[in-house]
Amino acid sequence: MTMTTPILTSRTHLQNTIEGWKAEKQTLGFVPTMGALHEGHLSLVKLALENADKCIVSIFVNPTQFAPHEDFDAYPRTLEKDVAQLEAAGAHLVYAPCEPDIYPNGKDTNITPGSAAQGLESDFRPHFFGGVVNVVFRLFEHVRPDIAVFGEKDYQQLMVIKEMVTDYALPIRIIGAPIIRDEYGLALSSRNAYLSESERATARQLNKIIRNASISGRTEAALLEAGFDKIDYVAERWNRRLAAVWIGKTRLIDNIRLP
Ligand code: AMP
Repeated sequence: MTMTTPILTSRTHLQNTIEGWKAEKQTLGFVPTMGALHEGHLSLVKLALENADKCIVSIFVNPTQFAPHEDFDAYPRTLEKDVAQLEAAGAHLVYAPCEPDIYPNGKDTNITPGSAAQGLESDFRPHFFGGVVNVVFRLFEHVRPDIAVFGEKDYQQLMVIKEMVTDYALPIRIIGAPIIRDEYGLALSSRNAYLSESERATARQLNKIIRNASISGRTEAALLEAGFDKIDYVAERWNRRLAAVWIGKTRLIDNIRLP
């Protein structure tokens, strides 16, 4: 018998299901996403299922983490395909809220990200972590999970979320998931869909270059030589080397653990 994964779009319906599970003493694992799912997201679902009885996946393209000039409108939306993949991966519920469920009264009451948000991404996308902590905080409030899984691909984001959970003493265990890459080392990302064939070939060199070069200045030169158009940063923090680069209109991020 095939299991059908329900898609719930209202907070009330979500809460009814979740309260039922809690009454049965089931533990809840949560994977927040913006959809356009790939194997990276599915690995988070797998990890959630290994650490909790039920896996809830949210799909919400969060407007507050995009600046006006960014790709909110163009961001890929593939709900039907996403749900089919989640069903195959064994997720128990998809929560696809609409904007008023997340921001019922506009976006007036906000929390501020902590020190992990300083620098790196924030130097180039100053709105970004504010948007992320506010949507994740609200989603946590809706889902009330025991554990939540975030990818190491967005390493600074993982650190910002861990800090938020500590600072608010939220009873949620945050689990970091390893980066899933294609056969050439390119970290899977929903934004890879924007790349042309030749851009993809360039993108596939990103990981190799940040892995091989050890002096940041030279790394940047190597990236430009390889065909990247602009380097936002190559930096070291949390025992990682992290990079954000542009190819044409597409911005890519990646990171590696330092030896
Ligand atoms: P997004 O839908 O891009 O907001 O990502 C949702 C979650 O999936 C975040 O926790 C990401 O870090 C994670 N994620 C995205 N791509 C990958 C990947 N290639 N490997 C592991 N996790 C990923």
